[in-house]
Amino acid sequence: MSESKKFLLQECDIPTAWYNVIPAMPVKPRPMLNPATKQPLTAEDLFPLFSEEAARQEMNFTDSWIEIPEEVRDLYKIWRPTPLVRARGLEKALDTPARIYFKNESVSPVGSHKLNSAIPQAYYCKQQGVTNITTETGAGQWGAALSLASRMFGLELAVYMVKISYSQKPYRRSIMQTYGAEVIASPSMSTKAGRKIITEHPNYQGSLGTAISEAVELAMSTPNCKYALGSVLNHVALHQTVIGLEAEKQMEMAGDYPDIVIGCFGGGSNFAGIAFPFMRHNFAGERDTTFIAAEPASCPKLTRGVMQYDFGDEAGYTPLIPMLTLGHNFSPANIHAGGLRYHGAGAVVSQLKNDGLMDAVDIPQLESFAAATAFAKAEGIIPAPESAHAIAATIREALKAKEEGREKVILFNLSGHGLIDMTAYDRYIAGDLSNHEVTDEEVAANIAGLEKII
Ligand SMILES: *Cc1c(COP(=O)(O)O)cnc(C)c1O
Repeated sequence: MSESKKFLLQECDIPTAWYNVIPAMPVKPRPMLNPATKQPLTAEDLFPLFSEEAARQEMNFTDSWIEIPEEVRDLYKIWRPTPLVRARGLEKALDTPARIYFKNESVSPVGSHKLNSAIPQAYYCKQQGVTNITTETGAGQWGAALSLASRMFGLELAVYMVKISYSQKPYRRSIMQTYGAEVIASPSMSTKAGRKIITEHPNYQGSLGTAISEAVELAMSTPNCKYALGSVLNHVALHQTVIGLEAEKQMEMAGDYPDIVIGCFGGGSNFAGIAFPFMRHNFAGERDTTFIAAEPASCPKLTRGVMQYDFGDEAGYTPLIPMLTLGHNFSPANIHAGGLRYHGAGAVVSQLKNDGLMDAVDIPQLESFAAATAFAKAEGIIPAPESAHAIAATIREALKAKEEGREKVILFNLSGHGLIDMTAYDRYIAGDLSNHEVTDEEVAANIAGLEKII
């Protein structure tokens, strides 16, 4: 067994193709539907909204590997390959026989994995002559990533930022503005969707669902403008598979193979990124790895949502997506892991979870911060509040391994660092944070409002 702390690849090891898990799935996800006709959508139906290549990738159920354009790989070189790290400090702190590894996606210039998809999405827009992009951002990480990616391809970007994060995370706004993006707090008065929500709920602090509605509305009403989404959709998960593909090579360098792969869960992109490449060996019958998505207890779509067609946004502008959902008008508590405050899960992950091919756990806010703090003390890196959910799930598994006296190999994705989230840490240290549990009644009432399509 190697004594190395980090396992590093060269630039030439950056994957040349993304891995599309759909062809290998025993049960494919149902198609997205046109909300008006309830008919399955084609890639062409999505062309008005997304870049054509993103739309084609979204609907690609046949190709297992999709080539990464040379221009995208060149920009990936700014920070990729990312390190795989053996968390010896955390192992020691927990006194566990488990071997814990993490893929460090926090080393990207914007501090999270989001740039993996922002770059190809901006690239495909540029390729077809698009000049403007709109998007939404929760905690600000996707907005920051797309701001940088847009700048690199000379595109103008407008970002709707969830209001609670706009005030809680002012430095993410500064980052976006530094890269030249326009940032608008959502709900705003600049769109119909925003005006409607502000009129009905003047103190509403916003949600990803609302911000998506506003960004989609602006994209559809601006010439030569496309919308880009930072999670949930198939093509976003696809782009994130560079994480797992690199990790696979690095685990090999470490002489280990994961028994358990863990990612935190907002809409599913970083979880998909670390998990899908390893999942293909389960599908091929070669391995029996356990996959765990860690979601916040205040927004438990995987553990307590229903499998149902639902909108990706609050106002109901997006196609109907087959998803595990809490209902598109679910309003999660204002937890500090803003990137995990989303009502539904992507179609692929929802299907995999429904078919028992992966697990999910929900983590209370205080447990996530206790885990984050333990990790920071043991490994030095201050994790993003979102990533802290993956760390908490990892700690649960490592302690279970200790109880059972088993040498489990655990791999988790460190989706981002928390250096711009110190307000949240301040509040945790001051004892000001609390857990937000959702009652069964709240979940049931919200889901009851959904139109039944399947
Ligand atoms: C956005 C974000 C998440 C959640 O989004 P997923 O699509 O589920 O990955 C998790 N961690 C960080 C650091 C993020 O920025």
